[in-house]
Amino acid sequence: MQFIFMGPPGAGKGTQAQILAASWKIPHISTGDILRACVVAQTALGQKAQAYMDKGELVPDELLMDIVAERLKEPDAAAGWILDGFPRTVPQATFLDKLLHELSGKGAANTGLKAVNLDVPDDILVARLLSRGRKDDNEETIRRRLQVYREQTEPLISFYGDRHQLVAVDGDRAMAEVTAHLQQELAGS
Ligand code: AMP
Repeated sequence: MQFIFMGPPGAGKGTQAQILAASWKIPHISTGDILRACVVAQTALGQKAQAYMDKGELVPDELLMDIVAERLKEPDAAAGWILDGFPRTVPQATFLDKLLHELSGKGAANTGLKAVNLDVPDDILVARLLSRGRKDDNEETIRRRLQVYREQTEPLISFYGDRHQLVAVDGDRAMAEVTAHLQQELAGS
């Protein structure tokens, strides 16, 4: 069970990833959570990442790669995982491919990876994010994060679509309905 949860900020990917990971007893790995913990702990990485996060920009790819490589090598990740918020750029997706290839010793196309995209219209996203109240959830940063998503992360939809690894799900529904749909779509992966 190897899942990537994509989708614009506010699509509900974090919530869904958390629920499904608990139900399947696999780790929920959120690069946003890991980065926020580094910021709180004032590690060197946290200090570098903070300015990007506060502005709604992506943290440079090279700062993410070690974090993800180390996390996926932990023993609890052997049976599967949900990656929430990674990859967010094509270079990150290419890096993940190589990493999985290395970890599995098989062809990257055989790792069973599925990329879930939760689709939600922009006006709903902005309303949801404004009500969430996280530090990077002010209107200016929200608009920047949506723009960054469209420019840098959306190309991953065709990246995984071309490889028949994409599962597109309508995220503009009640939370429990989306969860039930995902359970059904991803069961047996
Ligand atoms: P999230 O909690 O997934 O919304 O992430 C919060 C912020 O952390 C993002 O706006 C980025 O600044 C940063 N971030 C998280 N994951 C990544 C990633 N894969 N690549 C670059 N920046 C990231």
